Amino acid sequence: MDKQKLIKQLQLQIQILLIQIKILLLKKKLTIPNLHQPRYSVLHHGAGDWDFDQVNRHHKNKWGYKSSLGYYIGYHRWISYGGRLYIARRDNEEGAHTVDIRRPHFWNRNAVGTCLQGNFEKEKPTTFQLDTFKRVLDEDRKKGRILKMHYEIIPTLCPGKYLKEWFLKNYR
Ligand SMILES: [Zn+2]
Repeated sequence: MDKQKLIKQLQLQIQILLIQIKILLLKKKLTIPNLHQPRYSVLHHGAGDWDFDQVNRHHKNKWGYKSSLGYYIGYHRWISYGGRLYIARRDNEEGAHTVDIRRPHFWNRNAVGTCLQGNFEKEKPTTFQLDTFKRVLDEDRKKGRILKMHYEIIPTLCPGKYLKEWFLKNYR
């Protein structure tokens, strides 16, 4: 067998293996790891005062997809009023935070999602939250990720006018 043929056959076998792994993960309701690091970072607010456990439980009942870190929450990171940072998914794991019907999986596969507790249409984020958020965003930027607010992708109020204001002032 010549070399070209052998390479093609190996590539095909790798693809079959990857598909089999995906099926296995889906059956176990685990999320699918991407083979690349995300190029975007999308920012959200919780649109309410639910804490991490409440949102996690809600997403568990709604979707039931468990991350490799053992959480169900659709965001990769979550920041409480007190500024505590929760890591719920690895950066290269598919999230469940931004769906654009024109390309339904694109953002969840290519962006890390960060959510802050609170409804920033009605209240301002706390300074504890903003301190933590800034650290997270600066790290994303260092990795060359493009920062986007949820409303820049689809029509939504998210991440709320007060966080939007802060973000525009500090990052644009
Ligand atoms: Zn959002």
